[in-house]
Amino acid sequence: MSDYTPIAEIPKIVASLRTTFRSGHTKPLAFRRHQLHQLARLAQENADALATAIHLDLGRPKQESIMAEVGAIVERSLICAEKVGEWVQTEDLEGKVEVWQRGWRPRVVKEAKGVVLIIAPWNYPLILALQPLYGAIAAGCCAVIKPSEISAHFSSLLATLLPQYLDTSAYKVVLGGVEETTELLQVKFDHIFYTGNARVARLISLAASHFLTPLTLELGGKSPVLLLPPLSPSSLSLAAKRIIWGKTQNAGQICVAPDYVLVDPSLRSSFIAEIRTHLQAFFPEEGGALKSKDYGRIVSESHFGRLTAMLERTRGRVVLGGRWDVQSRGIEPTVVVDVPEGDVLLEDELFGPVLPVVEVEGVEGALRYLEDREHPLVIYAFTDGEEVKKRLESHTTSGTLVFGDTFAQVAINELPFGGVGESGYGRQVLKYSFDNFVYERGVVDVPFGDEPVLAMRYPPYTAESLEF
Ligand code: NAD
Repeated sequence: MSDYTPIAEIPKIVASLRTTFRSGHTKPLAFRRHQLHQLARLAQENADALATAIHLDLGRPKQESIMAEVGAIVERSLICAEKVGEWVQTEDLEGKVEVWQRGWRPRVVKEAKGVVLIIAPWNYPLILALQPLYGAIAAGCCAVIKPSEISAHFSSLLATLLPQYLDTSAYKVVLGGVEETTELLQVKFDHIFYTGNARVARLISLAASHFLTPLTLELGGKSPVLLLPPLSPSSLSLAAKRIIWGKTQNAGQICVAPDYVLVDPSLRSSFIAEIRTHLQAFFPEEGGALKSKDYGRIVSESHFGRLTAMLERTRGRVVLGGRWDVQSRGIEPTVVVDVPEGDVLLEDELFGPVLPVVEVEGVEGALRYLEDREHPLVIYAFTDGEEVKKRLESHTTSGTLVFGDTFAQVAINELPFGGVGESGYGRQVLKYSFDNFVYERGVVDVPFGDEPVLAMRYPPYTAESLEF
C-alpha cells in the first residue's frame, strides 16, 4: 500500500523517540495525564469515523465497535489518567528492613522502561493497539505503534489521527506489513508488546532474543466451552444463547471466542435445538445471518478461503448453517457434530463462526480431553453443579476461567487479561497494562557516616567478623 512507512525511515523514527525519552520529556506526571486525556479525546471525538473504518475492514456493525473498542478506550484512558499517580508511587521500605539498614532510605521506584514497540492485529484493531498504548503512556515510555496491514482502513485512520492528538515526538505510528515489522525488529526496543498468532510470536521472540528485549505475548488458540451436568433446561437454554452470541460476535474472529464445545451426551440434542432457536431470534430476516446487518464478515479472502476449505474437509456433520457467500465474505454460524478425533476443525484455532461440538463423558471426560491439549486463553464452563465448578477450577489451566457466560471477563476492568503457555504471557488492562512498561528499580542511599556498621565486612577477617 502506498501509505506504508518507508523502510529507511524506520530506524530514524525509533532514534528520534529515543532522543525524546532520554530528554525526560515523557516522564512528568502532568505530561502523562495530558496525553491520556488526549487519547480519550481521540477515541471519543472520532468514534464514528473509527467505527466506520472498522466496518469497512471487517463488516462489523458500528455499534459493536463503539461498545467493545471505542467506549472501552475512552473509559480506560480516563481511569488511567486518574490512577497513574497512585501506580507510580515509590514503595518506601524503611519500616521493613533491618534496623541497622533503616538510614539507607531503601525504596522501590517504578521506572519507565524506555522506547517500546506495540504490534497489533486486525480483529479488534483499535483496542488492541491503544490498550497497550495507554499503559505505555502511563508508564512514561515512548512508543511505536504498528497496527495490522489487514485492517488497512483503520490503520491508516489511526496514522492520521494520532499526530493530531498525541505528542509526535513521543508516539509514532508505523504502517506496514511483514517487511516493515521485520525492519522494526532489527532495532533495539526496551519492551515489545505483541498481540497476534503464535506462529508470528515465535518470530518476534527470536528477534527479541538478539537484544534480550522483554516481551508481552497476547496470543490465542482454541478456547473450549464445557457444557456439563447438572444443567437445568432453563440454564441450558441460556448457556446456548450466550455461547452462540459469543461465537457470532465479529463472526467468531475474537481471540476469546468459544472455539469448540465439549458436551455431555445427555445434553447434546437439547443444546443444538436451543442454539437453533436463539440463532433464529438473533437473525430473524429471511436468509438468516448472511443477510443480516448485525452480523460481521470474514476479514480477508485468505481467511475466508481457510474457513470454507475447513468446512469442505471436515468429517463432522453440519447440523446448523453451513452456507457461505463469496461476494460478501460471509459465513453462516455453523454447528458441526460428530467431529472425529484429528479432524481439521479440532487442529488449529478456528477464528471464524464455525462451532464443532465434541461429546465427552461428564467432568472427568472433559478434564481428560483438556489435559492433552495446549493451555487456552480462556475456558468457558456452563453447569449448575458447584462441585463440578470446583473440580474445573482446581484441575485446569487457562488465562481466564469463566462460569456461566462468554466474554464477561473482558467487561471487568479490574481483571487481568492474558494467556498461559501457548496462549501467551504477560497481562493487560489498566494497571496490568501499565506494569508491562515499567520496571521496579531498587534504590539505596548509604550514608558515609554508617562506616562503623559496615566495618566488619572488610578484610583482614577476624573471629569477630563471623559473629552475627
Ligand atoms: P495479523 O495478521 O494482523 O498479525 C498481527 C501483527 O503481526 C500484525 O501487525 C502483522 O503486521 C504482524 N506480522 C504478521 N506477520 C509477521 C511476520 N512474519 N513478522 C513480523 N510481524 C508480522 O493478526 P493475526 O495474527 O492473524 O491475529 C489473530 C490472532 O491473534 C489469533 O490467534 C488471535 O487469537 C490472536 N489474538 C490474541 C489477542 C489477545 O489479546 N490475546 C487478541 C486478538 C487476537
